[in-house]
Amino acid sequence: MIIMVLKLLLLLLATDRPARDLAVKLFPPRPAQGQLVVVQVEGAEPGDRVSGIFAGRKLRFFIDERVRVRAVSAVSWKQKPGDASLVVTVQPPKGDPIIQGVAVLVLGRRFEEQKLSVDPKYVRPPKSVRARLKRERAAMRRIWRAQPSERQWRGSFVWPRKDEICSTFGARRMFNHKLESRHFGVDIDGKTGDPVRAVGAGRVVMVADRYYAGGTVVIDHGLRLFSLYFHLSELLVKTGDPVEKGRLIGKVGKSGRVTGPHLHLGTRIEGLSFDPLSLLEFDFEGGAARP
Ligand SMILES: [Zn+2]
Repeated sequence: MIIMVLKLLLLLLATDRPARDLAVKLFPPRPAQGQLVVVQVEGAEPGDRVSGIFAGRKLRFFIDERVRVRAVSAVSWKQKPGDASLVVTVQPPKGDPIIQGVAVLVLGRRFEEQKLSVDPKYVRPPKSVRARLKRERAAMRRIWRAQPSERQWRGSFVWPRKDEICSTFGARRMFNHKLESRHFGVDIDGKTGDPVRAVGAGRVVMVADRYYAGGTVVIDHGLRLFSLYFHLSELLVKTGDPVEKGRLIGKVGKSGRVTGPHLHLGTRIEGLSFDPLSLLEFDFEGGAARP
């Protein structure tokens, strides 16, 4: 009650300023488990600070080429279908923050199941590689936890190579009837030596030969959005290299835990793996510009 009275008072005091109309829009409006989500805030003004949390993850807002205030996020593959919480806060240079909560309806999704046969050393890694696996995991964690860099991608993303998808995101896998795991990327078919290109502009933050992933490149696109390329036979960039969208970064191979040559593409936002297809298929350029 007191809050309501206060709000009314503030409204009465602010006679020279029209009431702010904030609208929070979501693309897609009903995202599925494991899918990319773009949050758009309409009604924010220059000088406002926009922040937010979606399903427990921080949103990093930016102003795009069409002057829209947006943030890229994703739904966890583990998120229960039903309502997920989205809270956006707009802090004007003076005065109280405007806080808007939205219930986002998350759709369930059926994940593929696969049975695969691989070299037993990838199902029960020998003791001799334990230290290596530990180092590799730590190196990846450092990337997700590093200070976020500025947004470097522009417009929509492009395919690293166009071919058939041989395994989808979130697939439940059983290796050699023993090891169960989840597939945190998409496998794009290819022959050893086929070119692999950067899906968007960014900076190379990892070039490595890893036990399970084989020849690996990781690109930081800014604002904690990353793309990962596994099983490469050739690595054509160095850590620290800036890359343009579509730049040749490596060649398809069959290094690491694979059943044959292909490109594994992964995408991560704020440490969360999500379906790369939802990033490649999202039209960042389309839609209305800010009026
Ligand atoms: Zn894969």
